[in-house]
Amino acid sequence: MLSEVLSKMWQANIFTIFPDAFPGNLGVSVIGKALEKKIWNLNVIDLKRFPVKNDRIDSTPCGGGVGMVLSPITFQKAFDTLPKEEQKKRKIYFSPRGRQLKQKDLEDISQSDGVTILCGRYEGVDQRILDYYEMEEVSIGDFVLLGGEAAAMTILEGCVRLLPCVVGNHSSIDDDSFQNSLLEHNQYTLPQEFNEMKVPKVLLGGNHNEIKEFRTNQSKNITKKLRPDLWAKYIEENLK
Ligand code: SAH
Repeated sequence: MLSEVLSKMWQANIFTIFPDAFPGNLGVSVIGKALEKKIWNLNVIDLKRFPVKNDRIDSTPCGGGVGMVLSPITFQKAFDTLPKEEQKKRKIYFSPRGRQLKQKDLEDISQSDGVTILCGRYEGVDQRILDYYEMEEVSIGDFVLLGGEAAAMTILEGCVRLLPCVVGNHSSIDDDSFQNSLLEHNQYTLPQEFNEMKVPKVLLGGNHNEIKEFRTNQSKNITKKLRPDLWAKYIEENLK
């Protein structure tokens, strides 16, 4: 089953009124190379190509108020251009009132065959788009951006780095923060001394078991101090 899913190219469909924003940071470094190598595909759909009438894709809010709201007719016309298989994918609408995704959500998305994303602008989108297409509302934090494009790139970067063959050494991913509910240990490089601050001795000794134990303890202490909520989760998971 897993190999069947992985054999299809992982694809993100993005609906936006600013297609030029893409690939943005998804076009650089290992993620950009993976895009070139067709390990994943980015399908950006310009909502402006699907006007309702007179080139308009949005109108003022019913009931009054400032700003513009994306028309459900525009979204329907744009969505209907996707092949049937693509239409079945998990659908996300970026919105400040949505749920914040966790690393586990990104793992689930990366293990599926992709995701469809609607980026809002101005006052947002007509509620019937979200209800009819059963879109998940997702936020990247309790603050307000001007549009969903940066949010989409943030989440996609997190998903694509988990795809096979994107990051060279996959074991580096396994040690990262949030994997196993722990934050990452501190990192050091040369010189051994900087402004009278020394690299911990154990990291220079070459004893792999000692280094592993040191790093694990450091991860635990950092998580306990910075994220008591995560630490509680770690304790619960490891007492099972
Ligand atoms: N009137 C809306 C804000 C619209 S901001 C409200 O008060 O909730 C315009 C668009 O930016 C949104 O439709 C959404 O797609 C995007 N956006 C803004 N803040 C965001 C956040 N914290 N997370 C994800 N998307 C966000």
